[in-house]
Amino acid sequence: MDSNKAATQLLTESQITALENAFKAGDVEDRGVVDAGQVQFIVQQVLGDVLTVSEVRTLVQKGEAVGAATGVINLQEFKDLLIDLLHTTTTRWGALQTSLDGYVGFDTVLEQQRKKFLKKGFEFNLMVVGESGLGKSTLVNTLFKSKVSRTSCTNEPPQKIPKTVEINTVTHVIEEKNVRLRLSITDTPGFGDQVNNENCWLPIYDQINKQFDKYLTEERSVVRRKQIPDSRIHCCLYFIAPTGHGLKALDISCMKKLHDVVNIIPVIAKADTMTIEERDAFKDRIREDIAEAEIKVYPSSLLPEDEDVLQANAPIRKHLPLAVVGNDRALTINNKSILGRQTKWGFVEVENPNHCEFSFLRDMLLRTHMQDLKDTTHEEHYENYRRQKLSEEGNP
Ligand code: GDP
Ligand code: MG
Repeated sequence: MDSNKAATQLLTESQITALENAFKAGDVEDRGVVDAGQVQFIVQQVLGDVLTVSEVRTLVQKGEAVGAATGVINLQEFKDLLIDLLHTTTTRWGALQTSLDGYVGFDTVLEQQRKKFLKKGFEFNLMVVGESGLGKSTLVNTLFKSKVSRTSCTNEPPQKIPKTVEINTVTHVIEEKNVRLRLSITDTPGFGDQVNNENCWLPIYDQINKQFDKYLTEERSVVRRKQIPDSRIHCCLYFIAPTGHGLKALDISCMKKLHDVVNIIPVIAKADTMTIEERDAFKDRIREDIAEAEIKVYPSSLLPEDEDVLQANAPIRKHLPLAVVGNDRALTINNKSILGRQTKWGFVEVENPNHCEFSFLRDMLLRTHMQDLKDTTHEEHYENYRRQKLSEEGNP
């Protein structure tokens, strides 16, 4: 007998829908699959406590058997599992008849998942790239300051940042409302110092691929860690010199080398050296150059987007490249510490949206687009790397 038909005979339409919804609620990442270990939980959310201990054990064993190879179960497998259970233990499923049409509380699966995610914490890896002397190291400090040691920056004297001579990653764990974020920022020495700058993008490209390789090695090892440490670069801030003349040939060639391996967000460095009008004109120039050179910047417009994604990305597309300023001092005004930079026109407040777009950038990275940057890294850039690597090794 067709198993789906058998299920329809035992369950009403709405009960089947409820089962499907429970599955979807468990599939928070919208991957079309749930972890094998989660099956019991989802079923219990739907059925309440109608299963006996031994039935639960059978269910878990079967779930694990189905997901043995991949660790995950798709909707059809999930349904088949339940139908199988229906055939073996029909009596207790009578309880389904009443509860399923009403509220069964499987929305708490989401809450469970949320807790699991919060417990794991988040990892986010950022990289700064561009000519040397554009304020990359300074901005890294500003990012951490504005997020990390907000309370500890009192009237600081102007800081002196040493010249960056090698690729260097700094990591801080930030905690906010019980959510932990491990933020790593990779600082790079910057281009333009050598006589021949043709291959200046290469060490950065290698660094990005090295992290992909590390991840792939972990993923392929026989005994896998439950959670693979993620050191892949999720976003690259590309610093553009505030020249007023558009992109340099070096910038174009570097971005075109990097755009296939990492999400690039272009920023205008030292925006305090330009007036607002100059900035706007410069932005238009850069946008034209980017379009003409067919450089892919984040958020990519190649794939079709849902209405809500489109809405979330619209302000970013409008503002890119973001005009930023890195702070060189912190003033305390009314007990509030203000990160800023003294210029000949006055004090520029780094986090004031009327002065520059630093706060917009920070919020985008750490709040609104962090997950999407990570997803894009995993689903596009890493996937490309993985596919290429495996096919080079002769895998089909
Ligand atoms: P990097 O080589 O790109 O890492 O640049 P640094 O962070 O070492 O900064 C180079 C110089 O530019 C330093 O003297 C900084 O004080 C200065 N600087 C950094 N950020 C800014 C900024 O936003 N505006 C201005 N006017 N100067 C900046
Ligand atoms: Mg530097």
